[in-house]
Amino acid sequence: MRYLIIGGGIAGMTAGEALRKSDAKAEITIVDEEQHPLYSRVLLGHYLKGKVPRERVFLKQEDWYHQHTIEWLPGTIAEHLDVKNKFVRLSNGREYPYDKLLIATGTAPRPLDVDLRGVSYLRTIDDADHLLQLLSEQKKGARMGIYGSGFIACEYLELFRELGLPITLAFRGDRFWSRALLPEAGELVNKVLVEGGVELHTHSNLQDLVGEKELKGFVIEEGTQEVSILGVGIGVVPDFTWLADAGVEIGKGIKTDEFLQTNVPDVFAAGDVAEFKDVVLGRQLVIMNWQNAMSQGRHVAKVMSGEQVPFELVSSYSINVFGLEAIFLGDVEVSEADEVYVVGSLESGGITQVFERNKRVVGGVLLNRNRDRILITKAIKNKQSFSELEFVTD
Ligand SMILES: Cc1cc2nc3c(=O)[nH]c(=O)nc-3n(C[C@H](O)[C@H](O)[C@H](O)COP(=O)(O)OP(=O)(O)OC[C@H]3O[C@@H](n4cnc5c(N)ncnc54)[C@H](O)[C@@H]3O)c2cc1C
Repeated sequence: MRYLIIGGGIAGMTAGEALRKSDAKAEITIVDEEQHPLYSRVLLGHYLKGKVPRERVFLKQEDWYHQHTIEWLPGTIAEHLDVKNKFVRLSNGREYPYDKLLIATGTAPRPLDVDLRGVSYLRTIDDADHLLQLLSEQKKGARMGIYGSGFIACEYLELFRELGLPITLAFRGDRFWSRALLPEAGELVNKVLVEGGVELHTHSNLQDLVGEKELKGFVIEEGTQEVSILGVGIGVVPDFTWLADAGVEIGKGIKTDEFLQTNVPDVFAAGDVAEFKDVVLGRQLVIMNWQNAMSQGRHVAKVMSGEQVPFELVSSYSINVFGLEAIFLGDVEVSEADEVYVVGSLESGGITQVFERNKRVVGGVLLNRNRDRILITKAIKNKQSFSELEFVTD
């Protein structure tokens, strides 16, 4: 059996490792655009803060692939998929045949239309090294900019705060995670940031960058903001260009059924790139977090080797920003819920939003209310309605 895996991140690698465990004789190839063996993107923030040494960010060493007789092609890009003749053409010029193909290519940061030295994106360890280089060149008191209002913006917030650097933060809407948070919860996050000393500009469109080659600032409606680094976190864009003409169905991600199979025979998708049929939450969903990518990698390996079982997980993502703990459980898109109930309040400093669809709980956002985590996770798994839940009051 020839397994070809495109993408050597946690989803692709976990699948490769599981396939090797279940079939010692299979031919397994992992193709990855990045030059590095598997590392943890989750640890990049800790590495940047100097809390984890660079070598500890890596989860595999180069010789691991050889030891497990997995052919590893770093620095190589999949450029074209031919589903009729079952091969992928790679940037090294070779055509790789497959019996089963896994697409685990993740996503990439959405770039600004403009660029200057001093603009930073954060996805890879190379991005982190670049940011460390920029930080090492800063003069005392230099101001840092952040544009965006999602998870990556939080990574920059935490880093710059840890380094004691003044921060100007701007974003387009009025609140963080605007697809998931209601106004009151958004206000709580903004309050924590402002109290933490962040200069906050909401309703701001980035109009231009200032500087010749080096960044000196960025322009929003309220005028020029002088900063010498700008961390950009304005969402992600998966690249599907190499799949053009292959007939693989694409929506917000590569569409799969509950088994992580695409509409094309013997082609599978897992991780950040997959828009899978979530049997727990009852809809097609893209989930972008480490736990989901790893679990899907493990699961898809089973399906690829012939075990037809649906993927089931209530995934969670936790992040800290200026001491505020935000936990996201299950399906947290306001627009996809019939009702979003609020427990707690701005005044109490803790808010939980519970997302309900078809009279059953499908998700939760917990701001400083970790105590609701087990209750909501169980409610999602057990298909309970909001009215059945008993919250601990303040
Ligand atoms: C800075 C940062 C911090 C994060 N922190 C957290 C956290 O605290 N908790 C959490 O749950 N999640 C976190 N995440 C998200 C988590 O890391 C992702 O959900 C997870 O890495 C997704 O894994 P993946 O394997 O699906 O995709 P990826 O990790 O993106 O891997 C995909 C790989 O495919 C390669 N590739 C893409 N296109 C091609 C092609 N055409 N040919 C060959 N190779 C290709 C890419 O170069 C990449 O190496 C964080 C992400 C970042 C960037």
